[in-house]
Amino acid sequence: MKIAVIGTGYVGLVTGVALSEIGHVVTCIDVDPSKVERLSKGIPTIYEPGLEELIKKNIGSGNLRFTSEHQKGLPDAEVVYIAVGTPQRADGAANLDYVEQAALDIAANIKRDIIVVIKSTVPVGTNFHIRNLINQHTMNSVRVKIASNPEFLREGSAVEDTFHGDRIVIGAEDAETGEILAQINKPFNTPIVKTDISSAEMIKYSSNAFLATKISFINEIANLCESMGANVEEVAKGMGLDHRIGPDFLKAGIGYGGSCFPKDTNALVQLAGNANHEFNLLKSVIEVNNNQQVLLLHKILSRFGDDIQGKRVAVLGLAFKPNTDDLRESPALVIIPKLVELGANVIAYDPIAVNNAKKQLGTEIGYTEDFTEALKNADFTVIITDWSEVKKANLSIYSQLMKEPIVFDGRNCYDLNEVKKATIEYYSIGRPDQA
Ligand code: NAD
Repeated sequence: MKIAVIGTGYVGLVTGVALSEIGHVVTCIDVDPSKVERLSKGIPTIYEPGLEELIKKNIGSGNLRFTSEHQKGLPDAEVVYIAVGTPQRADGAANLDYVEQAALDIAANIKRDIIVVIKSTVPVGTNFHIRNLINQHTMNSVRVKIASNPEFLREGSAVEDTFHGDRIVIGAEDAETGEILAQINKPFNTPIVKTDISSAEMIKYSSNAFLATKISFINEIANLCESMGANVEEVAKGMGLDHRIGPDFLKAGIGYGGSCFPKDTNALVQLAGNANHEFNLLKSVIEVNNNQQVLLLHKILSRFGDDIQGKRVAVLGLAFKPNTDDLRESPALVIIPKLVELGANVIAYDPIAVNNAKKQLGTEIGYTEDFTEALKNADFTVIITDWSEVKKANLSIYSQLMKEPIVFDGRNCYDLNEVKKATIEYYSIGRPDQA
């Protein structure tokens, strides 16, 4: 199949590359010429394990190319994927400006019957709205079919998830369109859920809302554990062995971040509100998460009697989770400005997100890609991202390098038995303090 993918962010790039790998001829289109220039040379614009090899391989085989000009990628395409961003608007709803612009780009450039597949996460009803928009604006008499194919990849394991996903959801407006999409995806060898378009749109929001709920639930339990002397890790283990509950997403910490859960939970609350439904459960999930993101600050202030002026602070991790350079909605963006405001001198470590962080956090803090550099002479350490370098560190490093080995761990990186053996003062989430 000749396929065009509009948008080469985390989703569009991985989708385009994966579709080329399974034999389709793919043109990836992005309005950002600097991205296109890099990608055309085989240089990835995002950090994703395994992506670079696949980009190079498929450019080499002629299955994959990149362009910033819609008129070069769209006229030939039989199927067009829309994978542009749907960020949060000020009122919490999904901003559809980019998706609508992609629709106008399609309308202006198609010359044959096409299937338009929306991969972006969009509110229920958007697929039909986009099909109508294309039909209204195209000058050619072409037939446009629409399908919803929401994306479930996780940043940091996006390639692995695309080739070994749990399911592929295809919401099509008719059986023929659904079958064409099923055939396109067949080589992935992943179970396909065929459904109507509205249900497909809803599956994506419901899935993210449910996962966010699991996280906020265990975080609330963690906070209870702290006041009742229980250990949330033991509790989560005991809960997760029940197959009706399952062990995933029961890890307590300083809350979820990233480009999806925060905006998608807010969008679903908005969407429910539009249908006169108060989604109280999800509103609480969001509130719990907002509080959880500043939990470490409360612990820090209570430990230092509300005064951290002039203290040197090692912040370990900037990305919203390990194995990605993405900072969107990372707890680091909440915690670091507060530390700076309180007069602390922050030196932040991240192995791959430093460049992205500099754009958002500026020059008021120091940066390093060397974990030990951050720890040198620090008065206390704050762990925000559970990078493997941090998790596998020998705990003696804290007392060796820091002025005082005081660690606030927002990701429960260390086994409490190991912590007990080391001479560190240690505060984590939902587990007894080791002071
Ligand atoms: P992103 O912001 O990383 O990338 C979007 C890209 O689209 C950018 O490169 C931008 O330049 C380009 N673009 C915007 N308008 C364009 C146009 N008219 N023509 C061509 N290019 C255009 O976004 P993302 O993280 O890849 O997310 C895309 C969608 O997928 C969102 O709806 C998101 O909610 C959803 N999603 C994201 C993830 C994730 O982990 N990032 C996972 C599942 C679903």
